[in-house]
Amino acid sequence: MQLLLQGHSFRYECENLCRVFFPYSHVRVVEAVAPGDGPWAYAAVESRNGACAYTARVSNGQRTVEKTRGQAALEEYAMVELLYQAFLELTGQAPAWGMLTGIHPVKLLRQYVEELGEAGGLEKFRARCHVSEGRAQLAMGTLRSQGPVTAALEEDGWALYVSIPFCPTRCAYCSFISQDVQHAKKLMAPYFALLVQELEKTAAVTSSLGLRLVSVYVGGGTPTTLSDRQLAELCGHIHRLFDFSHCLEFTVEAGRPDTITLEKLEALKAGGVTRISINPQTLSDQVLQNIGRRHTAQDVREAFRLAHTVGFRDINADLIVGLPGDSLAGFQDTLEGVLGLGASNVTVHSLALKRGARIEAEGGLSLHREAQETAAMMEYAISRLYGEGYAPYYLYRQTRMAGNLENTGWAKPGSLCRYNIYTMDECLSVVACGAGAVTKLKDPYSGRIERIFNFKYPYEYISRHGEILDRKDGVTGLYEQFRQRLH
Ligand code: SF4
Repeated sequence: MQLLLQGHSFRYECENLCRVFFPYSHVRVVEAVAPGDGPWAYAAVESRNGACAYTARVSNGQRTVEKTRGQAALEEYAMVELLYQAFLELTGQAPAWGMLTGIHPVKLLRQYVEELGEAGGLEKFRARCHVSEGRAQLAMGTLRSQGPVTAALEEDGWALYVSIPFCPTRCAYCSFISQDVQHAKKLMAPYFALLVQELEKTAAVTSSLGLRLVSVYVGGGTPTTLSDRQLAELCGHIHRLFDFSHCLEFTVEAGRPDTITLEKLEALKAGGVTRISINPQTLSDQVLQNIGRRHTAQDVREAFRLAHTVGFRDINADLIVGLPGDSLAGFQDTLEGVLGLGASNVTVHSLALKRGARIEAEGGLSLHREAQETAAMMEYAISRLYGEGYAPYYLYRQTRMAGNLENTGWAKPGSLCRYNIYTMDECLSVVACGAGAVTKLKDPYSGRIERIFNFKYPYEYISRHGEILDRKDGVTGLYEQFRQRLH
């Protein structure tokens, strides 16, 4: 899609809005629109007699819609809203999240609620951002669930994230850096040894700062690609190195059922893990095959049975709407199956779409149908999960999500995973270890987040590990600055 901008610097938001309405198009900012080259958009502001004249003109290649408006000030919101209205008229489709393109809509709602109270904030969120009633209520439900967790935050609290970036095979839709074990097997032992060193350094840094650990999350990848012995060792090291007296939860993403064994679950339980994930994505064997997973729905059921036998009660199940070859009826069966397995948390993701030959070749009509079906799956999930007593507690969006929807974590009362709120809401410092991990430190004075990045891939993590350890000293430096500003 061609995008022509004139008289303003609102490129980022205009580009994102183009992707909301044309998620499969590559948006190119151009100097002049070349006619006959597919969809295009023109967003311009012109100064006339001391006022600003806004123009939004959009086309799908066959039909063109133009909107204009005048106002005194040059304002990003005015330009983007006008462009939104032009797209809305052109496509006849109102996106569920309106003109919001950010990944944290609940943060925006919180800001409005703090400013205007619950009713006023919700109304502003709905009206100003053109958010649908259903999504506004979903965001408000999420905000309410987060209330007790965010109210209990303390300045010196922190969460530990540990990354195990290996998976048994690579899923077809994966955009994560995870390495499949066939290719990366020889890296796993050195990776593990160096990870322990990074944990040791992290423990030294956080204890010298007097920070209090409130949550541990081991994610991936698939942490259960480690052996039962390695998992026991990892839990042992974490307990040896960190003070658990204020820790409220210890989560391990067991992840893919084909990596879960009784011995591994027993090692996790004995290692003090309080919650795990078992991630089916779907309970359709055909869809599992379509996405490159080498396990069956029966493996999922067996993993749940083993987890219950071992004594895990807080179990999250990740599902995805919009998987290739899935249907509304298929998704309904999956959700019913997962509810029957007794998951205390269900996270419903929308597939993040890559621009792919298959999808583009199918053309617009099929895309429209696909988006509608995905939206119907999500509506079904929302109403069934509410009906079964789950509440939404964290929510985020990505660009190019199927049906332009969201990912939402749902939990039964008393079973939510605090770490998901800390990291999505960026309301607590997270110190992260391992390849691809990002430490995010919250400055209690300004509320800003300072980031420290680890190397992305295991081979870099191994070959440049000295630098990773040095970067952990940055945690001390940043906390010292935070404290100086605060006192
Ligand atoms: S399990 Fe997750 S991280 Fe691993 S390949 Fe599949 S989508 Fe990627």
